[in-house]
Amino acid sequence: MKDERLFSGSSETYDVTVIGGGPAGLAAAIAADKAGGRVLLVEREGRLGGILKQCIHDGFGLIRFGEKLSGPEYAHRYIEVLGHTGVTIRLRSFASKIRKHGEGFELTLVSRGGIDILQTKTLILSTGCRERTARQVNIHGTRPAGVLTAGQAQYYTNILGQLPVRRCVILGSGDIGLIMARRLTLEGAEVLGVYEAKQRPSGLSRNIAQCLEDFDIPLLTGHTVTRVFGRLRLEAVEISRVDEAMRPIPGTGERIDCDGLVLSVGLIPENELAETLGVLIHPATKGPIHDQRYMTMIAGVFSCGNALQVNDLVDYVSESGDAAGRYAALAAARTLTPGPGLDRGTEGNFADLTADENFLCLGPQRLDLDYRDREIPVFFRSREERGGTVLRVKIRGREFFRRHYSQLRPPEMERVLLPLDGLDLCRGDRIDFILE
Ligand SMILES: Cc1cc2nc3c(=O)[nH]c(=O)nc-3n(C[C@H](O)[C@H](O)[C@H](O)COP(=O)(O)OP(=O)(O)OC[C@H]3O[C@@H](n4cnc5c(N)ncnc54)[C@H](O)[C@@H]3O)c2cc1C
Repeated sequence: MKDERLFSGSSETYDVTVIGGGPAGLAAAIAADKAGGRVLLVEREGRLGGILKQCIHDGFGLIRFGEKLSGPEYAHRYIEVLGHTGVTIRLRSFASKIRKHGEGFELTLVSRGGIDILQTKTLILSTGCRERTARQVNIHGTRPAGVLTAGQAQYYTNILGQLPVRRCVILGSGDIGLIMARRLTLEGAEVLGVYEAKQRPSGLSRNIAQCLEDFDIPLLTGHTVTRVFGRLRLEAVEISRVDEAMRPIPGTGERIDCDGLVLSVGLIPENELAETLGVLIHPATKGPIHDQRYMTMIAGVFSCGNALQVNDLVDYVSESGDAAGRYAALAAARTLTPGPGLDRGTEGNFADLTADENFLCLGPQRLDLDYRDREIPVFFRSREERGGTVLRVKIRGREFFRRHYSQLRPPEMERVLLPLDGLDLCRGDRIDFILE
């Protein structure tokens, strides 16, 4: 790990540039270094670790380390390893622009030292995701202090040590909202309830049990916030029941006095940089369409972590970073055979992975036949909550893989290792995923 100051203002060329120093970027930078690449890791904040810095509850790393770690502990494991690599780190540096340049890319970084233009052969986008705001869920009324996202409430409480609300309502039953319901309660705030517009909660079952039931916090599905009251500070919210299409039912509004409305209404992969490069975004995942190497449809551009798709387990985020880092370094060195390395994106020898209507999302969406491993991890979510279900995978109508699930729930991402050994696959083939 080199001192960032040595490189301020210099014009450097790298094999792999990783944008975003959260768990995905940390894993990617370490893996790319291990694979022999000259690696730059860029992070806009002053410290590495991404969102994990503020996730002080435990439960991270059960798959990777077989231990229950807090977010900062999990990140620290990677930061320690990074310290023994040759990766150059630039903190407080914002990647503001990327453009194709020759065979690689030109990256513009904005930092306290000014603007730097760097060259890189490959890029890994590990920019994470952002939270939906009140405006994105059409909450009417004024915008007084006290209306904040769960991530903001988490930042105030865990990083700044300030309690942002005393008596609050949580809208949305996403995991961050559930975790904040418990956290705010432990810090002495009164959480009046978690209100969810859907008929079923969005968070993991274990979070509903550990964060709500254990603390007697009510969860009301089929309800939403229809109005906020207060000019400078929030004074109350109006909660209404909603119908099956999540439309508020007139006449059901109830006013609840509170000084805080905490929103946990979804995460959106952060892909503005990717889009400026023309990276194709999948409508279901809201992240780049990618192959099993985590390469997007633009050759030399890789994506991993929550920028690729919203993950519920950080262990899967790191897994995608590992693979993206390794393959980006190999692509930069053009050591992959056969195939011309970087010069393939939309062209090339690909099969498509397709999912039937019972899937909410599935990735990767493409299989590069020139870089076939014996098995590849495939991640998916089911669209609806389902009991006993069979996952079938077919090529040209012939089933070659199946797995039984006793339960599938949309909030829980499933990982399956798909065996590819001995399969007769041709360019343009479809690998069909079916849930029955
Ligand atoms: C508010 C919030 C709370 C969460 N809490 C939990 C939780 O409690 N438990 C859990 O399992 N998961 C939680 N998650 C999910 C969590 O994001 C993932 O598990 C994991 O941290 C994602 O890792 P990542 O590296 O993909 O993204 P992040 O951890 O978000 O890291 C992305 C990094 O990219 C940097 N970045 C973005 N754009 C640029 C740019 N243009 N230039 C330079 N740097 C850039 C950001 O500053 C950030 O450090 C939470 C997510 C959010 C948004």
